[in-house]
Amino acid sequence: MKPTRLLLARTMESLGASGKHALDLVLPPSCPATGSGVSAPGNLSPAGWSGLHFIEDPICSLCGAPFAYDYGVGAMCAACLAEPPAFGRARAAVVYDDASHGMIVRFKHSDGTELAPMFARWMVRAGASLLDAQTIITPVPLHRRRLIVRRYNQAGLLAREIAKRTGARLLINGMSRARATPPQKTLSAEARRRNVAGAFEVSQAMRPVISGARIVLIDDVLTTGATLSAAARTLIKAGAASVDALALARVVKGGIDAI
Ligand SMILES: [Zn+2]
Repeated sequence: MKPTRLLLARTMESLGASGKHALDLVLPPSCPATGSGVSAPGNLSPAGWSGLHFIEDPICSLCGAPFAYDYGVGAMCAACLAEPPAFGRARAAVVYDDASHGMIVRFKHSDGTELAPMFARWMVRAGASLLDAQTIITPVPLHRRRLIVRRYNQAGLLAREIAKRTGARLLINGMSRARATPPQKTLSAEARRRNVAGAFEVSQAMRPVISGARIVLIDDVLTTGATLSAAARTLIKAGAASVDALALARVVKGGIDAI
């Protein structure tokens, strides 16, 4: 296993402040996007910042897809007009592209957990219209087996950080995966929908909490919205008053040039 900052940090945890200093000397913090030196772990270099595409208005009022032109308040994209998603609104912080991809992969698979606070800051800004102290936020769950392999649910880490910053109520196990689903990566939009249909469940114990609640689902990447729609359907069936979604990044059809 390669000696990531996190592993070294765990080893040096007991040393407190001097341990942190020693860690910075052994392995100086680097920008997760460019690899150049930065002042603190989880910070981005100026070049890292400028490479990212933060999603700003104008966007689709439902799914949050960025528009090239401002079509006015409440405008919807073609996909939402054809078939509205099961969630109310979705928002995402950045475009999922070459600049954000590496960071997100690292966050998901290689102990890049130190990125969670920075990602959460971006998400709180993007999801400001969805989040308040009355909101319940809950992460899209991983199946038990995948959780064992990855050791943490990246959406859970984001949800925890977002709750800290907004006062929203965190429900870490609001729902679970009823069955394991193959990765969505290579599937078409229709196959994705079929793949995740009925994949989630709300336990009897959670029903009283979900019932009547305004829920914001937290996920890392929004691709077609199939996973978030399946999760939203399950929560609505369990009695949720509304379900919105907040993702760290979203795929943009046609890439950044299409915006
Ligand atoms: Zn839309």
